[in-house]
Amino acid sequence: MSFAIDAGLAKRLASLRELGRARIRPVGLEADRAGHPLPPEHPFFAELLRLGLGRTRWLGGEDTGQEEEPPQRRVGEPPASGGERDHRVGGERDHKPGPALTGVLISEELAYWDRGVAVAFPGPGLGEPPLLAMGTPAQRERFLAPFRTPNRPRWASFAMTEPGAGSDVAGIRTSARRDGNGWVLNGDKSFAANASRADWIVVWATVDPTLGRAGHRAFVVERGTPGLGDFKIEKKMGLKAYESTSFTLRDCRVPDGNLLGGEAHYAAADGRGARQAGFKGAMQSFNATRPMIGAMAVGIGRAALDTALAFAREQDRLGDPRVRDRLERIHRKLRAARLLCWRAAWLADARRGNVLEASMAKAAAPAAALEAAVLGMELIGEVGGRGDHLIEKLFRDVKAMDIVEGTGQIQRVLMARQLVGLPRD
Ligand SMILES: Cc1cc2nc3c(=O)[nH]c(=O)nc-3n(C[C@H](O)[C@H](O)[C@H](O)COP(=O)(O)OP(=O)(O)OC[C@H]3O[C@@H](n4cnc5c(N)ncnc54)[C@H](O)[C@@H]3O)c2cc1C
Repeated sequence: MSFAIDAGLAKRLASLRELGRARIRPVGLEADRAGHPLPPEHPFFAELLRLGLGRTRWLGGEDTGQEEEPPQRRVGEPPASGGERDHRVGGERDHKPGPALTGVLISEELAYWDRGVAVAFPGPGLGEPPLLAMGTPAQRERFLAPFRTPNRPRWASFAMTEPGAGSDVAGIRTSARRDGNGWVLNGDKSFAANASRADWIVVWATVDPTLGRAGHRAFVVERGTPGLGDFKIEKKMGLKAYESTSFTLRDCRVPDGNLLGGEAHYAAADGRGARQAGFKGAMQSFNATRPMIGAMAVGIGRAALDTALAFAREQDRLGDPRVRDRLERIHRKLRAARLLCWRAAWLADARRGNVLEASMAKAAAPAAALEAAVLGMELIGEVGGRGDHLIEKLFRDVKAMDIVEGTGQIQRVLMARQLVGLPRD
């Protein structure tokens, strides 16, 4: 296993760092003070498009966003909380990392500057992994091609959560009923990132709630489809820059072609495994996105640690063993969490199972990042708690990292199944 990166990616990360310093952090603070998401027409989004950002990572044709061969890279020693020096670049074994590792590295860098803004970035976002995991070539072409060289900021969204189904994804109640050559969807969704501005939303529904996971289907619901509406932006304690939105589906009719993967994908040809294709597609998406969420948590944690470290240095507190030991411990935990994220991503690029590692990364990173934010708040004290201090914002931003894409408790259940034989329910 090796995590060396090529010069191209190192350059890209360096330019994102510059963008982060100059634009992402200030725009994130602006949204936090305003208390609402950046509007879709915010000039920052058009600026990102001009920089070549806000695009799909899908290359076209049969590409599934996965590499065929395990990449060969060298291990780099992380010397600091910073990004680029953690990788060795150059030499004959200098490799272009796979899409998962690239995604993890970029996610951490962006979240270091502002995780809310990172999620607000135009692009297919969480809508992309299910398209790559389950979509037919025609569906990828139809829905992802507009994100290849977008002529305007475009977003997509992912809607699994419902008011009565969060951790228990098998319990979703949004119904999908066959009707002629299409489907009729009815239900309520909540907390879907960027949903009201999305060109399309991957909506998870069930053909029969009594079937549990086997009843799951995923549909691409396009903006403007009659019956899709009632968008409401939820209130959040942090991550204000992007919208988390509830919406409803009322007799919302979608054509056959929008059933992700087509009927064949869900056909009960080979028993239970095939019948759970919809649920498995969702889980495959999570295996791709959990290491990225972990990496984003590491990014927020590093920002908190750097803020705490700067304060301790300024106040000449580094000689105090109580302060020094806590700073060291958090440094160590963030690096360990980062390695878990990298390994989970490396396995994904190598097309090897990463369920356990994705859960480990997702469980460890938010906990370490929360510890970093708590330390920062405690160290900076009164000044930090007054509001409008970066550490206070990071403290509010970080909690959601434990919740999204499966809470810490849920990751522990998943890990216990693998490590100590906890039976499935
Ligand atoms: C900022 C933010 C962004 C989000 N973005 C999206 C998005 O884009 N798309 C989307 O579909 N969803 C999104 N979500 C929803 C998110 O996935 C859910 O909030 C999450 O899955 C938890 O569900 P819940 O909030 O309903 O909590 P619940 O499932 O009600 O859980 C409540 C508590 O009980 C614990 N718990 C539940 N079951 C178990 C168990 N079996 N064992 C042990 N403990 C358990 C949980 O860990 C939690 O602490 C987002 C949420 C947030 C906060």
